[in-house]
Amino acid sequence: VDALKICVKDLPPGGLEKTLTCQPEDIGLEDVFDLHFGRPLSIDVKLEKVSNTVFGQAHISTVITTTCGRCLADVKQDLSRDLELNFTVEKQTDCIDVGDDVRQEVVMNLPLKILCSEECKGLCPGCGANLNTEQCQCKK
Ligand SMILES: [Zn+2]
Ligand SMILES: [Zn+2]
Repeated sequence: VDALKICVKDLPPGGLEKTLTCQPEDIGLEDVFDLHFGRPLSIDVKLEKVSNTVFGQAHISTVITTTCGRCLADVKQDLSRDLELNFTVEKQTDCIDVGDDVRQEVVMNLPLKILCSEECKGLCPGCGANLNTEQCQCKK
């Protein structure tokens, strides 16, 4: 992905700090079950080249939107991850691409289940009432 490529010759001595942005689908991140990406990924990178290694850190942030695992209400959750980067570069290497590292980090850290609140009471299995806001209609 061009947006996540950094040309090795653009890395100044002392390093480079930059914010990259990309759409999740640009790096093959697709909605999983009912997890959606609520906004593009923002990636703050700090990179430095020392001899034939480019290394540094990236901070990834985005927002995941989904439905509560218990009551199905819409919920949003920030996703924010730090990751270490390390690339070996050859003389003929023009650019490095942080896309693969970013995708792996996000995929490995997608939440399995998001709740609107730890105290969410969920839906009644009998009548389907949202017990956070409604009275159960089941006959006792
Ligand atoms: Zn809920
Ligand atoms: Zn009920």
